[in-house]
Amino acid sequence: MKNLPPLVIAIDGPAGAGKSTTAREVASRLGLLWVDTGAMYRAVTLWLLRHGIAPVAGEAIEEALGTLTVDLVPGESTLRVLLCGEDVSQRIRDDDVTGLVSQVSSLRQVRHALVRWQRRIAERGNVVMEGRDIGTVVCPDAPIKIFLEASLATRARRRARERSRHADGLDERQILRELARRDTADSTREVAPMAAATDAVRLDTTNLSITGQVDAVVRLVRERGYVSS
Ligand code: C5P
Repeated sequence: MKNLPPLVIAIDGPAGAGKSTTAREVASRLGLLWVDTGAMYRAVTLWLLRHGIAPVAGEAIEEALGTLTVDLVPGESTLRVLLCGEDVSQRIRDDDVTGLVSQVSSLRQVRHALVRWQRRIAERGNVVMEGRDIGTVVCPDAPIKIFLEASLATRARRRARERSRHADGLDERQILRELARRDTADSTREVAPMAAATDAVRLDTTNLSITGQVDAVVRLVRERGYVSS
């Protein structure tokens, strides 16, 4: 058998394209660690909100990054997000965090710290890491890179369906506007904008079922020689 580099599956793409669902299922099928880097940016955003620190470059942010800790703990079918030991898995999905996270994640200081944490996790291999810059910046040598896409309308519909379970009253049109705003901010920022790596496989999930998109990724992993059966 060839000597393969450590298995890192980088999954990038806009919000609602199916990254978390795909990453979670692929990790579960192949026995890999699932790392949601968006959750890390959200946790940092929550910390800043709680401490009244504005998302502008400076000493306060530097100090915050030296103080706070973010841990991702794999659960049965979820990923628990711990901010300084506190479970904030649900809280980081609230509107105040979602509204501010793109601004926080555009700061060079923040990206620098989080990319360092993420690389430390990826170094060990056997990981599925999802985000916006995994294939381009965090793990440019990842042997498998996927860029997930779906139409804006489909992504808004999926989010609305997810959120109706939490009954927070946001309608599909509001969600669509919010997704479009975040896509623009994430793909036009100066530092590490969201982009497909030139060697990424693009996968449009608009007309795919969850099983279909998971199968496509697992097939690719096998084609690259990582799993035998
Ligand atoms: O994936 P999710 O939508 O939870 O990510 C929240 C935000 O975190 C994104 O809109 C983006 O601003 C930021 N993010 C990022 N780089 C990543 C992952 C997320 O800038 N690798």
